Amino acid sequence: MAIRVLPPEVAAQIAAGEVVERPASVVKELVENALDAGADTISVRLVGGGKRLIEVADNGSGIPADEVELAFSRYATSKLTSIEDLDRLQTLGFRGEALASIAAVSQLTITTRARAEAMGTRLRLEGGEIVSREVVGAPTGTLIAVENLFYNVPARLKFLRKDSTERKHVSMLVSRYAIAYPDVRFSLMQGGQEVLRTTGSGDLRDILGEVYGTEIAVRMLEIEAVGGEEWREDLPPIRVTGFVAPPELNRANRSQITLFVNGRWIQDSSLTYAVVQAYHTMLMTGRYPIALIMISLPPEEVDVNVHPTKAQVRFRHPDAVFSAVQRAVRRTLVDQAPARTVQEGVFWGSPEWAARRERLAQVTSRRMQQAGLGLEIDSPGRRASQQQSGKEETPSAPSRRRALPVLRVIGQVGATYIVAEGPEGLYLIDQHAAHERILYEQFMAERAGEAIHSQELLEAVTVELMPEQMALVEGSLDELLAVGFGVEMFGRNTIRLRAVPALVAHGDPVEAFLAALNEIECGEMPTEATAEEKLIARVCKQAAIKAGQILSYAEMEALVRQLEDCQSPRTCPHGRPTMLHISAEQLAREFGRLGAI
Ligand code: ADP
Ligand code: MG
Repeated sequence: MAIRVLPPEVAAQIAAGEVVERPASVVKELVENALDAGADTISVRLVGGGKRLIEVADNGSGIPADEVELAFSRYATSKLTSIEDLDRLQTLGFRGEALASIAAVSQLTITTRARAEAMGTRLRLEGGEIVSREVVGAPTGTLIAVENLFYNVPARLKFLRKDSTERKHVSMLVSRYAIAYPDVRFSLMQGGQEVLRTTGSGDLRDILGEVYGTEIAVRMLEIEAVGGEEWREDLPPIRVTGFVAPPELNRANRSQITLFVNGRWIQDSSLTYAVVQAYHTMLMTGRYPIALIMISLPPEEVDVNVHPTKAQVRFRHPDAVFSAVQRAVRRTLVDQAPARTVQEGVFWGSPEWAARRERLAQVTSRRMQQAGLGLEIDSPGRRASQQQSGKEETPSAPSRRRALPVLRVIGQVGATYIVAEGPEGLYLIDQHAAHERILYEQFMAERAGEAIHSQELLEAVTVELMPEQMALVEGSLDELLAVGFGVEMFGRNTIRLRAVPALVAHGDPVEAFLAALNEIECGEMPTEATAEEKLIARVCKQAAIKAGQILSYAEMEALVRQLEDCQSPRTCPHGRPTMLHISAEQLAREFGRLGAI
C-alpha cells in the first residue's frame, strides 16, 4: 500500500483513542475542565452507563461566545502558552485535546455563558463536525452533553463493558474528586438515581461518610502533616495529607489506594507500594489497605506531561516522594492505630506460645460444640439427610476409590496444622486450606445437584456500600443469587442481605458477602461457569477455619474425615497444597535408618 496522509477525521478518531477510553475518561476530562474553570458546583449525570448520555454541568467561568468553536480544535487551550508554563502549571488541563477528542467520537452539545456576557452559546457537534450554533439564554457556566459515545467508532464501542461496570468506574472517579475538592459541591446521578452528593462544606469527614459509608468513615485515620523538623534543605517540600484505614479495615486488592498529586488523580504503582509498605507486618499477605493520599509539592517537581490521559506523572525526586508517603502513612498508623501485628499462624517461640499451650491443654470436646464451626462431627449429618430427601448421592459412596488414605489424627501444631498418621507416613495438614477444599467441594456438589442451598438470615442485615460497589451489586444480583446470596437494594448506598449460602451460614454473613463482592470486582470477565466457581472459591476461603484457630480433637477428626471424602483433597481451590506428606521411607532416610540393619 502506498503511504498516504490520513484523512483528518480518521486522524482525529485515532488521537481521540488516547484520551477517551470509556465513559469515565469523558467524565474525568469534563470534571477537570469544570474545576479549572473555578466551578464550585459540578453535577454529573449518566444514562445507560454513560453510553447513551454523559452530562456535566458546572457554574464556572464559562467560555466567551467568540471562543467556543476554538475550544473544540485540537491543541486549543487557554491554560498554557509556552512549554515553560508546564513548570508552573496550576490547572489540571494543559494539552487542549480533551474537547476535540470527545467531540470526535460522539454527538456533543455544549451550552455555555461567560460571566461577562449577557447571552450564552449552544453548539452541536457530530463526529467533531459543527452541525449547529445558536445564541441562547443560559446561566453562567458550562453544560456539556455527550451522547452516543463511540457511535462512529464501532471497534471502540465493542470494548465497553456492561452498564454497571461503566457506572462503577464513573462513581469511583467522581467520588475521588469529591474528596480531593471538599469545597466543591458534587452530585452524581446515574439512571435517574442520585448516587453521590456532597455539600461543598469543606469538611472531609462528611465527604468520606458519603463516599465510604459512615461506618468506614469514622474509623479512617487522618494523616498528620509532617512537622517542620523533618524538612530537608536538599529536598523539595513535599506535603502528604489524607486518610488511611486502620489495618483491620482492609481489602483484597489495591483498588482502594487512591493517590492525588497537586489535586490530580494519578496512578502510580511505586507510590501505591509505598502505602502498602507502610502497613508492613500489620496486614496479612494478600490484604491491602484503604487509603487516600494527597501529595502537594511545587509544580516544577512533577512532570504531568507523560500521557494524554494525564493519569501518570514523573517526579523529579521520586525517592523523596516515596519516602514522604511511606513515612506519613507509617507514622499515622503507629501513632493512631496501636500495633496489632498479625502473625500468620506462627506461634512457636513467640511469647504467646506458652499461653496458647496452656489453653490448648484445656480444650475439651465441649468446646467443639460451642465453637459451632459448621463441621459435622458425626457422619449422619447433612450428607445423610440429603440422601433421605431422595437426592442422588454424588460419587462419594464408600465404593469410590479414595484419593487419600484413612488418617489418624495425632494433634494440632502452631494452632495452624493438623498432624496425622497414615499408612504411608506422616501428614501435616493446613487446617485452613483443607477446610476451604471441603467447603468448596460441598458447594460444587450442591451446584451440580441443582441450586445452591441458601439460608435465610433470622434478621436481614443492612450493609452500607460505596457507590461503585452498589453499581456492582446491582449488576450482579443474578450471580450472587446463583451462589446463594439473597440481596435487596435498600436505598442509596445500602443493601439488605437476606440470605447467605447455607454452607457458610455459621460465619459472619457480611464478611462472606463482601468476599463474594470482592471476587466479582476482581473478576476478569471469564466465562460464566468459571466466574461462578471462582466466586464460590472466594466465599469458601472466607468461611473456612482460619490459621491460629485452636481445634479440638473431635473437630480435627471431623475435618480430616471430610477431607478424605474430597475428590481432590491435596490442594485448596486456589491451588495451594492442603497437606505435606512425609513418607515413612523419607522419615527413615532422615533418621539414617534406611540401609542400616
Ligand atoms: P485543556 O483543558 O487542556 O485546556 P480542553 O480541550 O479540555 O483542553 O478544553 C479547551 C479549552 O476550553 C480550555 O482551555 C478552556 O479554556 C475551555 N473550557 C473547556 N471546558 C470548560 C469549562 N467547563 N468551563 C470553562 N471553560 C472551559
Ligand atoms: Mg481539559
